Amino acid sequence: MLTKPLYFSQVQLYMAYLDLEQCVFTALNKDTSELYFELIPFDSEAAQKYSDRAVQIIKACENGETVPCISNDPSIFKCKMCGFRNICRNDER
Ligand code: SF4
Repeated sequence: MLTKPLYFSQVQLYMAYLDLEQCVFTALNKDTSELYFELIPFDSEAAQKYSDRAVQIIKACENGETVPCISNDPSIFKCKMCGFRNICRNDER
């Protein structure tokens, strides 16, 4: 889980808002079809940190501020697959 901070923050926020003390993270290895399970304990400090970060982003958007792009290259994989590309990159796909 530590190698995927995005999933870690996601499950911490879910547990916070669902009032859970732990959850089971499940992943499928697409090459081998092997399933991976990991018991994740709730981390209230992490959940608060990620929640605060989300509030900062929402407030920045409400104030018309833009957050920095992850790259100057719009052809990188994350930007190509991003649902906000049309806003961020002014891309009319
Ligand atoms: S296109 Fe998406 S991933 Fe890329 S910088 Fe913009 S918001 Fe971030």
